[in-house]
Amino acid sequence: MDQKIHSFFSPNKILLGIGATKEIGKETKALGGTKVLMITDSGVVNAGLVDPLRTNLEGAGLNVFLFDRVEPEPSAFLVDESAQFIKEEGVDIVIGVGGGSSLDVAKGASLLASNPGHVLDYCGIDLIAKRGLPKILVPTTAGTGSEVTRVFVVTDKKDNMKKVVYSNYAISDLAIVDPMLTLSMPSKVTADTGMDALVHAVETYVSMNATPFSDLFASKAIELIAKYLPTAFAKGDNIEARYHMSLASLLAGLAFASGGLGAVHALAYPLGTEYHLPHGRTNAIMLPHVMEFNLIGNRSRYAFIAEMIGKGGNLGDLKGKAALIVEAVIGLLNDVQIPYHLRDYGIPKEAIPKLVHEGMKQTRLFVPNPRNLSEEDVEVIYTKAW
Ligand code: NAD
Repeated sequence: MDQKIHSFFSPNKILLGIGATKEIGKETKALGGTKVLMITDSGVVNAGLVDPLRTNLEGAGLNVFLFDRVEPEPSAFLVDESAQFIKEEGVDIVIGVGGGSSLDVAKGASLLASNPGHVLDYCGIDLIAKRGLPKILVPTTAGTGSEVTRVFVVTDKKDNMKKVVYSNYAISDLAIVDPMLTLSMPSKVTADTGMDALVHAVETYVSMNATPFSDLFASKAIELIAKYLPTAFAKGDNIEARYHMSLASLLAGLAFASGGLGAVHALAYPLGTEYHLPHGRTNAIMLPHVMEFNLIGNRSRYAFIAEMIGKGGNLGDLKGKAALIVEAVIGLLNDVQIPYHLRDYGIPKEAIPKLVHEGMKQTRLFVPNPRNLSEEDVEVIYTKAW
């Protein structure tokens, strides 16, 4: 029997369901809000997702401000800027509406409103002293799970690195997951974000830090994503597929909030910062290559994942069964039209040494990975991925 003591992190309240955002005014007031800052990006505004929420909030008697200048893979500067806005206007509650980029800026802004300095002062583990303003997170993509995690990610433009803040105070007070907000996602964003959720679930399931809680959430998420991502990609207005992808992303977020990520994320980060590919896409590209390397670290769990997504059949031998998961992931990548080689993105082979150098800066993510990685291993993985 497992002798470890396990933690489980989640928001106090999660609302999940078609039309769940209709509750936003009532819930914001219940959290004591009077002056609201909605943090989002122009793509989300142009998709018509912000206006109905604003109307609902104003209908509940709340005073609403809008910060809609979030950019994908947001810079630390954006967080500082939106926190400044909060202080100047006397805002008392923050609502993030959008993909992981907007939700992460909302987390950072709510925390900086009550803590001095700049967001980069807090990158690392548990460096934030005070609870921030209350925050409600409303995802419009189905991928990052940021609405329920205790982390957020900012890009430090000075050294072109993604930096992560871990804090229990980063967990939302309320997550409102309304699949209707994801219907307008373009198919490419559906594919990238859906694969991001799959990577969260798979990495957590095979992580050295997996817990009985994360196992439950991760395994269900894997099953749902294998079943519904191709449908959501094929037909964006398929509400059943969108519902299950929103649920899967939420479950994968709960899983990795309590378990841990691994080498896929570590080796994906440099593709984002060096080549400006979206976060989900970088994870998707690296997944089959890292998985193939990792297999021997936890064959039984990879074999179980293969079974969960309908592969593995009656093959008795564990080695063969586990290897099928790589094939299954490549099948899924083909379904959602994600090329998974670096050369497909114009990345030259000569870039590999720099990628290795940058990837080796993320060694914290190697610790929970089911197989240890040396610098030579990282080079082999990038070379195979090329
Ligand atoms: P995103 O937030 O960057 O959005 C991508 C694009 O999709 C944007 O142009 C946006 O306008 C558009 N978009 C979003 N929803 C839409 C909709 N419903 N209709 C039309 N367009 C829509 O993408 P993302 O992948 O959700 O987030 C990526 C960010 O999240 C990265 O910065 C990553 O590091 C971070 N992240 C955070 C966590 C966490 O737990 N905090 C986890 C994973 C990733």
